[in-house]
Amino acid sequence: MRYQSTRGTAPILDFRDATLAGLASDGGLYVPETWPTLSRAAIADMAGLSYVETAVRVMLPFVGDALGEDELRALCTQAYGRFSHDAVTPLVQLDRRQWLLELFHGPTLAFKDVALQLLGLLFERFLTGADRPLTVIGATSGDTGSAAIDALAGRERVEIFMLHPRGRVSDVQRRQMTTVLAPNVHNIAIEGDFDDAQGLVKAMFNAQAAGDGPLGHLRLSAVNSINWARLMAQVVYYFYAAVRLGAPDRAVAFSVPTGNFGDVFAGYVASRMGLPVARLIVATNVNDILARALATGDYSARAVVATPTPSMDIQVSSNFERLLFDLGGRDGQAIAAQMAGFESAKAMQLTNAQREGASALFTGTRVDLDDMALAMRWACERAGQVIDPHTAIGLAAARAGDLDVPVVTLATAHPAKFRDAVERATGVRPALPSRVGDLFEREERYETLPATFDAVAGYVAVTAAR
Ligand SMILES: *Cc1c(COP(=O)(O)O)cnc(C)c1O
Repeated sequence: MRYQSTRGTAPILDFRDATLAGLASDGGLYVPETWPTLSRAAIADMAGLSYVETAVRVMLPFVGDALGEDELRALCTQAYGRFSHDAVTPLVQLDRRQWLLELFHGPTLAFKDVALQLLGLLFERFLTGADRPLTVIGATSGDTGSAAIDALAGRERVEIFMLHPRGRVSDVQRRQMTTVLAPNVHNIAIEGDFDDAQGLVKAMFNAQAAGDGPLGHLRLSAVNSINWARLMAQVVYYFYAAVRLGAPDRAVAFSVPTGNFGDVFAGYVASRMGLPVARLIVATNVNDILARALATGDYSARAVVATPTPSMDIQVSSNFERLLFDLGGRDGQAIAAQMAGFESAKAMQLTNAQREGASALFTGTRVDLDDMALAMRWACERAGQVIDPHTAIGLAAARAGDLDVPVVTLATAHPAKFRDAVERATGVRPALPSRVGDLFEREERYETLPATFDAVAGYVAVTAAR
C-alpha cells in the first residue's frame, strides 16, 4: 500500500515511512492511494472473531509489505493485551435503538489508547536498527497526551515532547501525563489554548521541512491523529461493533463525539472499505465549526470556548482535510490552495462536490451544555450507565437523530476521567479504576512555556540533544 499527501507534492511513502513521518513534508496529511475493500463475505466471516483477529483482517491491506501477517498479529496481541476488558471494546445496549461502544478500557481511560498502544509498538518495530532516534512532538487537549506518553514511555530510540494548554486539561488528564517520570518523556504546559499548542507543533514541522531553525538536526514525528496509523487502528472498532449488530446484513449508524475529526474519519474509511454504515453523526459541543460546515458549507473558525468536554474544544479539525481531499476528487493542488486560504483567513467555503459528498454520509449535530447534562442523566436513570461528558455529547446527538437503525455512540472516555462534570450532572461520583493506581500521590514534572515558536522549539532542540 502506498500513501500520498493531501497537498500533492510530498513524496509517496510506504506504510512504514508514512507511520514514522506523521505529517507530510508539504504540510498535508498522508492517505492511502486507494481504499482497500472487504467483500460482503469477508465481513460476514468476521462474526464471532476476537478483537485482535478483526484488527488483523481490517489492517492487513493498509500495512502492505511493511509487516507480515503474523508480525501484525503479535503487535495487536501485545497492544490489546493491556486492555482491562476481554472484549477490548465491549458494546452495551441502552434501549431498543441506542448502544454504547466502550473504547476506554485501555491504560489511560480514553479511546486514544486503542490507536496509540499499537502506534508505540509500530514505532519501536520500525526504528530497530535506525541511525537516528525519533523525536515525537504532539499537542494534546488532554487524552492524546496521556495515551501517547503511556505508549512511548521508556521505549528505545524515541523521545516524546507533549504540549498541553495550561489549566485547560482535567487534573486526572494532567497527572496521567506529568507523573510519568521516564527520562524520554517531556511535558510542556503552554500558556495558551489547544489551537495555540497545535499551531506550535505544525510550525515546528514546517520549519523542519524547510530545513531551517533550531530543529534541523532532529528526526521529527507526530502522534496526533494526523498520523495515518492511528486512524487505521480506529477503523477496526467500527467493523467489530457493526458485525456484532448484524453487518453486513444490517446497516448501523454511529454517533461520534468529535474534535479533530480523526475518530469519525475512521468511520468514513470503514464505509469506503465496504462496511454498511447508515450514517455518521458528527457530534460537537458548542465549538461547532464542523456542524456548521456540514450544514452550510461554511468552514470558519471562531474563538475556542472552554467546556466540560476539553478534548472537543477545537476549532481547527486537522483531519477534515483528509475528507475534503477524498471528496474533492483527490486534487492535491486544489486542497493546498483551499487550506492556504483557510490558514490566512481562518475561513473557507466547501465546494459543491465536498458538500454533497459529505451530506451523503455525515450529519453534524451541535450539543449544548444542557443537552449534554440531560444525556448523562438519561443514561444513568434509564439504562444504569454512568457516562463521561464527551460520550454524552455523542449520545445526545444520537438520540436527536431519530434514525431507524441501531445507533452506536462511541464512548470515548471513562467517566472517572471527568468525574467533577459527571457528579454535577448525575450526583454520582465515579471511582477511578484500580489500574490507574495512586495517581494523586505521585510526583509531577513539567515545564511551563509561553506560546511562542522560539521558546518551544528552543526547548525541544536543547532537551532532545541532551
Ligand atoms: C480525542 C477525544 C475526542 C475527539 O476525537 P477526535 O478524533 O479528535 O475527533 C472525543 N472524546 C474524547 C474523550 C477524546 O479524548
